[in-house]
Amino acid sequence: MSHPALSREKSRTAFTRAMSLMPGGVNSPARAFGAVGGQPPFIERGEGAYLWDIDGNRYVDFIGSWGPMILGHGHPRVVEVLQAAVLRGTSFGSPTEAESELAERIIEAVPSVEMVRLVNSGTEATMSAIRLARAVTNRDLIIKFAGNYHGHVDSLLVAAGSSAATLAVPDSPGVTQGTSGDTLVLGYNNPAELDAAFRQHGEQIAAVIFEPVVGNMGVVLPTGDFLTVLRELTRKHGALLICDEVMTGFRVAYGSAQSLLGIEPDLTTLGKIIGGGLPVGAYGGRREIMERVLPAGDVFQAGTLSGNPLATAAGIATLTVLRDDPPYGRLEQLSCQLADGLHAAATDAGIAHTVAQVGSMLTFFFNSQPVTSWETASRCDTQQFARFFWGMLERGFYLPCSQYEAMFISAAHTAEDIQATLAAAAEVFRSLAAEV
Ligand code: PMP
Repeated sequence: MSHPALSREKSRTAFTRAMSLMPGGVNSPARAFGAVGGQPPFIERGEGAYLWDIDGNRYVDFIGSWGPMILGHGHPRVVEVLQAAVLRGTSFGSPTEAESELAERIIEAVPSVEMVRLVNSGTEATMSAIRLARAVTNRDLIIKFAGNYHGHVDSLLVAAGSSAATLAVPDSPGVTQGTSGDTLVLGYNNPAELDAAFRQHGEQIAAVIFEPVVGNMGVVLPTGDFLTVLRELTRKHGALLICDEVMTGFRVAYGSAQSLLGIEPDLTTLGKIIGGGLPVGAYGGRREIMERVLPAGDVFQAGTLSGNPLATAAGIATLTVLRDDPPYGRLEQLSCQLADGLHAAATDAGIAHTVAQVGSMLTFFFNSQPVTSWETASRCDTQQFARFFWGMLERGFYLPCSQYEAMFISAAHTAEDIQATLAAAAEVFRSLAAEV
């Protein structure tokens, strides 16, 4: 890329140190830039829509901590309640009123949730929801869709947005064949395949877990009658429908994707935004199902830090801002500006592409075909994505470091940020076209 590289000397040194201490130098694999090569900037601070690295470079942030930071970094209301909360104490292991307040906010907003349990991550939420669904139905099999990611739960680490859609082959060493053998992997947006699976295994299927709008193979929307068929078949065969809204919850609408798309799941999993940037997850659903969870019922699930006072404070503050001053209309506008602008700039440069956008989630696919499934997603030109990513990073725009992730726009982004992003993208597209 012809643009001069930013100096990242301190980040390079920090990464060398981290590599000797933590596997791959990181605590979550995507951060290590495996999909685009090179080394990540180390972040010193974030403010609004921007991140600064330890070398003093500023980036317009389109990662948003992979979803939670819908209000941008350091929103004054969130900072204020966190400062007050930290002085009261960081963890008690006894009930607090804040837990009920966050639960109430979730129940008021998300139509199908009547009762909720707070946990510490999205992974914990989906793991617990699966356990509960198996207990309630007294069945073993789970259906998931290729290219949908639900955290690193053993039984869900199958075709989890990173490997080809294969029936019951684990994505990771350490996941036993026995565990993955209880998971059926089907194609997203393929109602016929779903119907066939229920015909064959209907009596054994405990639950279907799905992303209502997929964010984990890039942004992929449900098409046609897929979601309707999903609800009908699960109901007909007595399987629970688990809507994984860890990414879409409070992101695509205050009532989450289920309110937008008119879905009525039995269980919902949440995370990211409901913790306002602190570690949180939640699972919830119909009262009679949730009352099976210990100590109301017999399904074990617990957590030392669950309902943590800092996390609930940040979560309540974030949901309060989202409810009282909803940014969703503006987010949609900014995202459309970005989607339309990227489409125009790539068309001008002759770059084959398709752009998918829902609310403030967006993916620019280096793929001329519409992306509706893992099969179509996997045909993207990931090499070209990597060059695009680096061209943008060197110009001060930090995109998610994989073709198969969503860009997130926050309420702190401005029309000027989007314009600047589009000007940089036009330059990068032209240089990509010139390389070919
Ligand atoms: N479900 C979905 C839809 C997600 O996007 C993610 C994380 N990206 C998870 C579950 C897992 O959440 P966590 O990383 O907090 O464990």
